[in-house]
Amino acid sequence: MQQKRLVVLGGGESGTGAAILAKDKGFDVFLSDMGGLSDHYRGVLEREGIAFEEGRHTPELILNADEVVKSPGIPENAPMIKALREQATPVISEIEFAGRYTDAKMVCITGSNGKTTTSSLIYHILRRAGIDAGLAGNIGNSLALQVARDPHPVYVIELSSFQLDNMYDFKANIAVLLNITPDHLDRYDYKMQNYVNAKFRILQNLTADDAFVYWQDDPVVTEQLRHVVTEAAMYGFAEYQEENSAAYIDAEDNMIINTPGTSLSMPRADLALHGLHNVYNSMAAGISAGLLNIRREDIRAALSDFAGVEHRLEPVETIDGVEWINDSKATNVNSCWYALQSMTRPTVLILGGKDKGNDYSEILPLVREKVKAIVAMGKDNAKIVEYFGANTDLDVIDTHSLDDAVAECARLAVAGDTVLLSPCCASFDLFKSYEDRGRQFKDRVRAIKK
Ligand code: ADP
Repeated sequence: MQQKRLVVLGGGESGTGAAILAKDKGFDVFLSDMGGLSDHYRGVLEREGIAFEEGRHTPELILNADEVVKSPGIPENAPMIKALREQATPVISEIEFAGRYTDAKMVCITGSNGKTTTSSLIYHILRRAGIDAGLAGNIGNSLALQVARDPHPVYVIELSSFQLDNMYDFKANIAVLLNITPDHLDRYDYKMQNYVNAKFRILQNLTADDAFVYWQDDPVVTEQLRHVVTEAAMYGFAEYQEENSAAYIDAEDNMIINTPGTSLSMPRADLALHGLHNVYNSMAAGISAGLLNIRREDIRAALSDFAGVEHRLEPVETIDGVEWINDSKATNVNSCWYALQSMTRPTVLILGGKDKGNDYSEILPLVREKVKAIVAMGKDNAKIVEYFGANTDLDVIDTHSLDDAVAECARLAVAGDTVLLSPCCASFDLFKSYEDRGRQFKDRVRAIKK
């Protein structure tokens, strides 16, 4: 039988993992990356003896594929994808490909915000309870690499809408949809419904034996559910108990979780992660763990000792009574809303970076209530300076480097205040990534102490 040719487009974590799995499964594999590969992934491909090219896509080496695995970073309108579509070559995501080679239980998490936190929480609960789970998707090693070289009986998978876009036969056992707010609309023809449809692909192929865990207070999710048919068992979570809520906060401020496998109540104050958004994330994680029959003691303990995820409302230091918090991952207005919502002290807020079409009116009431000054940090802060200058009485300081921004915050904050980096924007104007922004911020803050 002739070997099937699998071409992988994009040589990051998911692409390299897919190439390794394909090699192990006997495909004729070729990987092509339009940009440059990192030294790490180039080294892996060389060691594995996988053919690859970088800095170009050579049509003759790609268009002869039987199937293509596409990195989630490559948009649908990239010329090579269009050419493949025209000749009807199947284009799938790495998760779709990896899913074919495992019958592990799949807990899949999607949503506009909270995916990494909730996936990490579920993973933490499972590992703490002694389950051999793997964490995959946007975090850590790709699913494909784990299926190939480090298989687990259960996977917790963080799924972005871009990954879901190219999933067809893949099936989750537990599908979690945290929320839907406008994001990445540039990749969806600026149509919210296209983005909603992508997120709802997490429901596809679910059977009556599977579960759908979703936020009942989300107007977009509930509206879409009126038009969607699924056989899956439904487990909603909400701040206050509603019909069919599997998780909610009761009148005594306890978080309640009820699943067929597990029921538990724990004081909200015992949750390791603070803020209402993290109550929702904890509920989604608790329901998922309950559905996997994890004992209530284990769920309770794990939800109260979870160490948190870097760059998500991460406490950095308290210096002279000023608390510094790194929420660099807040790259859209909605995440900043939740960060502000959880602030309990007067806050100096660092905003700015690359704006993806932000509407700051969403956070205006919270800014008026909780913020004492805004420090804008970006190449071009005009929109922030104008908007908050016109709509609040606050000082809005215009800075163009991290050093200046941190110095201004140190000047403005007094004992009892919080300085919050929750910028509402992508980082690419001044930094390599949101991680780079968060790390530099932490280093700079820690240097104040010395
Ligand atoms: P994602 O992986 O979806 O980008 P993260 O878990 O990394 O989400 O969290 C990113 C930011 O989003 C956090 O810093 C926080 O401010 C905000 N956030 C987290 N969970 C939620 C939620 N359930 N609803 C709204 N915002 C959230």
